[in-house]
Amino acid sequence: MSSEEQKFSHSKRIYQKEVSVKKQVHIAETYGLDVKTPHKYAKQHALNCGNPNCVMCGNPRKTFDELTIQEQRLFQNKLQDNYAPNSEKLLDSLS
Ligand SMILES: [Zn+2]
Repeated sequence: MSSEEQKFSHSKRIYQKEVSVKKQVHIAETYGLDVKTPHKYAKQHALNCGNPNCVMCGNPRKTFDELTIQEQRLFQNKLQDNYAPNSEKLLDSLS
């Protein structure tokens, strides 16, 4: 038997997945992509190629050892003072 909390968290998970699929379908429709099977966007974002090892779609920290755009924005004052292209060096200097 499941309690009310378990039922609520289960329905919340289902709702979150539906919302994320809906967002990706909207992005796909905006860019004129194929939306015949919308649920495929539950596992793959609309603008990613789907290859997990893709250099173009991947995280720049993982592939190039650089900071992400969000991290560059966050640390832009520190970056101007001492430029460190290597993310490990920069994160060491900030801590
Ligand atoms: Zn890709």
